[in-house]
Amino acid sequence: MSEKEKTLSIIKPDAVERNLSEKIKSIFLQNNLSILESKKLHVSKDEAAEFYKVHQSKPFYDQLCGYLSSGPIEVLVLEGENAVLKNRELMGATDPKNAEEGTIRKLYGISIDKNSVHGSDSKDNASKEISFFFK
Ligand code: ADP
Ligand code: MG
Repeated sequence: MSEKEKTLSIIKPDAVERNLSEKIKSIFLQNNLSILESKKLHVSKDEAAEFYKVHQSKPFYDQLCGYLSSGPIEVLVLEGENAVLKNRELMGATDPKNAEEGTIRKLYGISIDKNSVHGSDSKDNASKEISFFFK
């Protein structure tokens, strides 16, 4: 028996700005992930810093938080079988240069930082990240 799972996706500023949200959402829907919740918002740098706290020791942390807060984003709750892993597969590798053909980051990513989407990396982080945006 397979179980439904939820995960958080973020359509990042570079993709919202290029009006790619509908195209990205249709990739999720075509791959049996339903969109339970979605909202467009513009986070502050402090909120981005809180969201990305796990990366606070990384050299790119400040740039990352500056980037996520640089423009509107769309946050989605996806649901489906193995949603966490499936979303990660649909996203592709962090650096679009290394992402597989047909993945969102290969199709739309600009660079390792402007890589169009975020996706939770585990079930635990998915529930934390969903509660961060949908209280
Ligand atoms: P992923 O988003 O694939 O889970 P990570 O969790 O490792 O990747 O990193 C979070 C985000 O930080 C990435 O999506 C990317 O936007 C940014 N990032 C990761 N590595 C770098 C880097 N070397 N330089 C700049 N930004 C980076
Ligand atoms: Mg990550």
